[in-house]
Amino acid sequence: MPNTGSTTANQGNIAPKPTESDCKKAEEGNKNGRTKVDSWKESKVERLQNKKDKLQENLDKITDAKAKEKTATRIARIDKLITGWQKKADTVSTMMNCEGSPKTAYSSYQSYLKNNKDDNFFAKGQPPKDRKGGTVLCEEPYNYAESASETGNMMKGGHCEARSLYESMKDRNKGSPPCNLTFKIDWRNSDGNHSIPCPDCFRMMCHAKTNCNVEIYVCNDKNEPEKLEKEECENKQTGYRKFTNRVKGAD
Ligand SMILES: [Zn+2]
Repeated sequence: MPNTGSTTANQGNIAPKPTESDCKKAEEGNKNGRTKVDSWKESKVERLQNKKDKLQENLDKITDAKAKEKTATRIARIDKLITGWQKKADTVSTMMNCEGSPKTAYSSYQSYLKNNKDDNFFAKGQPPKDRKGGTVLCEEPYNYAESASETGNMMKGGHCEARSLYESMKDRNKGSPPCNLTFKIDWRNSDGNHSIPCPDCFRMMCHAKTNCNVEIYVCNDKNEPEKLEKEECENKQTGYRKFTNRVKGAD
C-alpha cells in the first residue's frame, strides 16, 4: 500500500453507525427509569390522598364556619398538589455512551432523591453547585448561552441530556478518537410525549459534537437513530426545527 503521507490520527477509526438495537436498549433504560419515577409519584399522591381523606372526614364534623372554611381551603390546596404530581412535566432519557452502555437520567433527580435511595441507576450529572459556570464537556465548561445566567446554567445543567453527557464527557480529551452517543428521549409535558431534545440541549449536543469529537444520534419513534448533522448545528435559524422534525418523522 502506497504511503499516503500524513493522515489525521482519527481516520479509519470511526465507530459504526448505531442501530435499532442501540435505540431499543436505550428505550429499555427509559422504561426502567419510568417504573422508578412512577412508583415515586404514586407514593407522593397516595400520601396526599390520605391527608385529604382525613381532612374531608373532619370537615363534616366542624360546625364553626371559619374553621370549616379553613379546612376546605386546605383540601383544595392538596387537590391542586395531587393534580400537579399526576401531571408533572418531566423527562427520562437514556444515552448509549461511547462504550455502548446505557446511562439513564431523570430531570427531577434532586427531588426524586429526597424520597428514594440512590442506587446509581440514574445519572447524577454535574453537582448543582458546580453547574453555575456551565456544564463541563471535554474539560471545558459549556455555557448554555452567552447570556446564560448562573440560574439558567444550573437549571439546564439538570436536564437529562446534560446529566448523561457530563458523566461521559467531562474527562474526555479533545483529541480522543471519534465515537457515537445515542439518545432515546422520553419528554412528557402538557402537550404530550416527545422524543426530541429541548432547543438548549440541542445546542449543547452540537457543542459536544464539535468539541468532543463525537457523533450524536437521537432515536425516533421507530427506534431509528437520526444523526445530528453539522449543517443543522451551524444554522441557528432552522437547524433545531430541521433536526427535530426528522426525529419526529415529520420530514
Ligand atoms: Zn434540555
